[in-house]
Amino acid sequence: MSDVFYSARWKGPAGLILISFSIMFSGCKTTPAPGTVSARQGDEIVVAGRMVHSGTRVVLWMDPGGYDAYRVERRFVPLEKAGWEDSKAEVSALRTPNRYSMRRAGLTDVELEQVRGGGWDLPLLQKVVDQFVIHFDVCGTSRQCFKVLHDRRDLSVHFMLDLDNPLKEWYTREGNGATRITIPGSLGDGGIRTKGFVGHPARPEPVTGRVQGQELIQYDFTPEQYRALSKLTATLCKVFPKIKCDYPRDGEGKVIPEKLPDERLKEYGGVLGHYHIQTNKNDPGPAFQWDYVIEQAQRTLNGGLSPGAAQTSMGHMRQGH
Ligand SMILES: [Zn+2]
Repeated sequence: MSDVFYSARWKGPAGLILISFSIMFSGCKTTPAPGTVSARQGDEIVVAGRMVHSGTRVVLWMDPGGYDAYRVERRFVPLEKAGWEDSKAEVSALRTPNRYSMRRAGLTDVELEQVRGGGWDLPLLQKVVDQFVIHFDVCGTSRQCFKVLHDRRDLSVHFMLDLDNPLKEWYTREGNGATRITIPGSLGDGGIRTKGFVGHPARPEPVTGRVQGQELIQYDFTPEQYRALSKLTATLCKVFPKIKCDYPRDGEGKVIPEKLPDERLKEYGGVLGHYHIQTNKNDPGPAFQWDYVIEQAQRTLNGGLSPGAAQTSMGHMRQGH
């Protein structure tokens, strides 16, 4: 299972769980005793302060070992050098201690006043969130991704899928013809939460394809990453009705391999890649299997797959695009 790291930029009263108190009549549900620890299943994301099940393992920013983009200090430098004064002196790309900013688009002045302190409610969030953008960051692991974005680039991210699809030297051919992913020693243990995990790309050969008019070559992502991403996609499409569970398609139903025209991009509500937004980007790359992710997510949404249930093998995946 590939962990989803949720470093959280949608601000909400994180961790606050609202318990509705009802007058206790005989036969009514009992209110948990004060001090009772509320159970977590470990697959929850947080949306406007609510815990939402995703069916895949999730490490929240507030969990042990989580990556917290709300923190203003650098995460991976000696603690005495982590503060903002040292950070901005040492890293020129860091311009503000906050790696996130507030989304104002689509909000009225009254709504803006409501949420400027972090007070998003679910209906308001559902009104403005209409796209789920997928990236490929070439960092290799969630830990490395957070390190680069947070400590070096003044950026933040909502979800990181652990063990990303990194660089050529990470891939070696095994005797049985499979391709094995090995994390270089320079990244230590890699920070992968599943101990002893060895990743294999869904297709052993590198995949060639055109994105943004350029021919590119890329190893595929792992079945574990696809499964986790499908669950997360289904979860977000369910929670946010404006995110249609689909990708940008051409007249024949194939994924559009380039930036969408401005007007179409503005109107688009659904799942899309970074390259659909900017001409100077090609992630998530030609190997990314849009049809598999979306088909699996739609099956989950239609009740075909219960959260966390075993999914069809990757052998059923359509090959190539
Ligand atoms: Zn990107």
